[in-house]
Amino acid sequence: MLSYSKNEVPDNYICLECGKTNCKLFREYDWSRTVKLLCVNCVDGKQGVVVENSNDGIENARRSGKVWYMAAIPYDNNLGYWEYGESPDEAVGWWCRLPDKADEAVEFTEIGVPDSYRCGKCGATNCKLWRNPKGYMSPFCSRCITSTLGMNTDEIDENGTIQNPRYQSLGARTDKIGPYIPAIPNLAGTAYWKYTAAPPHRVKWWKKLRTNRLHPQELFFR
Ligand SMILES: [Zn+2]
Ligand SMILES: [Zn+2]
Repeated sequence: MLSYSKNEVPDNYICLECGKTNCKLFREYDWSRTVKLLCVNCVDGKQGVVVENSNDGIENARRSGKVWYMAAIPYDNNLGYWEYGESPDEAVGWWCRLPDKADEAVEFTEIGVPDSYRCGKCGATNCKLWRNPKGYMSPFCSRCITSTLGMNTDEIDENGTIQNPRYQSLGARTDKIGPYIPAIPNLAGTAYWKYTAAPPHRVKWWKKLRTNRLHPQELFFR
């Protein structure tokens, strides 16, 4: 459940064009009922955008020709968006408190590593982790995984990929190491995205993490 009073921002509240999050987003409503979220900057980059105010003077809608962009205010179960003008006051308040401009917002790639994001075996953090998709288990670092699987640590490159064993002759690479898939957490660090289901920005975040991390003890003895 999304808590409006805690200023929580849903994981998928991301501008489709520039990937910014934690800022006011508008939704481009088309009648096919798909919802495209866009930040203020990306909406204002459209041709001839006119800003519209709500009755209480909030700039909650924009239009460019026939296309309307209205405040994207998710339901508290995040399964949809309020119809224009029908969102309850606390939901409107939530939206109004978000920063206007995407430049003030934080991109997920700039967000640090959640506290809980540690290797379940050696405690390494600030590095890429992988997880076993079956059941709930802590994620592991590249070193612990390669030693478990009897592989060489160097086989994993900076992008966190190895040569795909199934397409070796084609030189294809994969980020799946044995049974382990990239552990890409949600913003709060409480759950992981399913394999290949993480949004591009999360994948970028994961790729930016270091692949190899010295074990904390080794760091100590260096
Ligand atoms: Zn944008
Ligand atoms: Zn480890």
